Amino acid sequence: MLKILWTRLQQKHRTTAYPKGPAPELPPRFLGRPKIDMSRCTPDSCRSCAGACPHGALDIGERVRIDLGKCLFCGACEAACPAGVIEFTREYRMAVGRRGELEVQDAAYRLAEALDAKSRKLFGHSLKLRQVSAGGCGACEADVNVLNTVGWDLGRFGIQFVASPRHADGLLVTGPVTENMRLGLLKTWEAVPSPKLVIAAGACAISGGPYLGHPEVHDGCTRLLPVDLFIPGCPPHPLTVLDGLLRLLGRLEKDGR
Ligand code: SF4
Repeated sequence: MLKILWTRLQQKHRTTAYPKGPAPELPPRFLGRPKIDMSRCTPDSCRSCAGACPHGALDIGERVRIDLGKCLFCGACEAACPAGVIEFTREYRMAVGRRGELEVQDAAYRLAEALDAKSRKLFGHSLKLRQVSAGGCGACEADVNVLNTVGWDLGRFGIQFVASPRHADGLLVTGPVTENMRLGLLKTWEAVPSPKLVIAAGACAISGGPYLGHPEVHDGCTRLLPVDLFIPGCPPHPLTVLDGLLRLLGRLEKDGR
């Protein structure tokens, strides 16, 4: 026992200092919010990026447009562009409050705003969420789960995942919503007392992800439930999820930390 206590003392405090301190270092292969520089682009003659996108997340009209609600962050478009028009940055802040705001055309990007004062009073310091895994691959669930580890300690913000929807303030949905999960999702939603929140985490929950258009899925939860927060990614990095949750609750400083 003494040995365990001694080892624990040696380990010291392991929880990330974020958001009061700097954000933890992201892995080298992390791809964050893309930057599109149209001054380098020749959309009429090239179209290499659209041809490279395996998922129809990138559209070329007069401008190159990436729908982050569909994007799998594979980086194929960036690699295919001969002029360096698309660059996936290290920017992890990507959660938005409205579906349409996931469309990236240039540098402008409107992040999620905090809930109104009444909702912040209700949820700001204690938010209980029921996670519904609606037919995904498990990656979004795994990355959300990471937030419960000692490294992130989601509980210090008063945010916890609970087993019963009756004890929850809202749902965090992952997965494309398979037909088999549709009823379960709707019943879980109905069981949550009002007022309640819905958070769609990951490309599948937002748009169906790689399963988009399949007859057995509902292309995410956005047509079934009123979504308050959209967190893009495939899967979203835990930091992106945490940033989105804190942003919604108005728990971040003005500079975004
Ligand atoms: S990173 Fe997104 S937009 Fe680019 S090719 Fe992959 S899925 Fe398509």
